[in-house]
Amino acid sequence: MENCIFCKIVQGEINANFVYRDGEIVVFRDIKPKAKHHILVVPVEHVESLLDLQDKHFSLLTKMIKVIQQLVKEHKLDSAYKLMVNGGKYQEVPHLHLHLLAD
Ligand code: 5GP
Ligand code: ZN
Repeated sequence: MENCIFCKIVQGEINANFVYRDGEIVVFRDIKPKAKHHILVVPVEHVESLLDLQDKHFSLLTKMIKVIQQLVKEHKLDSAYKLMVNGGKYQEVPHLHLHLLAD
């Protein structure tokens, strides 16, 4: 999607501090962290919001959760972490992403 900042990050047009990536999911650190660890889990496909997810996306969502499980374990964040999805006026970037926040 043109002019989408997360599509530009996915495509390597804008730099980010990448934590993980595969063909379907890209994970990088938030530019303005609101916790010691503030990680964004982003699908490669431009899906605008949670409400735009269709049946065909649900295996992708499961994969995002699995990636988060791995991140929490590998980065030893299991003592204090939370997941967040913003929508409507709370969503600044209109490309679906899960926030992983941890101490
Ligand atoms: P939202 O409100 O859409 O759920 O959150 C968007 C998040 O993306 C914010 O926490 C914001 O700091 C982060 N963000 C916005 N632009 C960039 C960017 O260019 N690079 C990175 N790494 N994070 C960004
Ligand atoms: Zn996008």
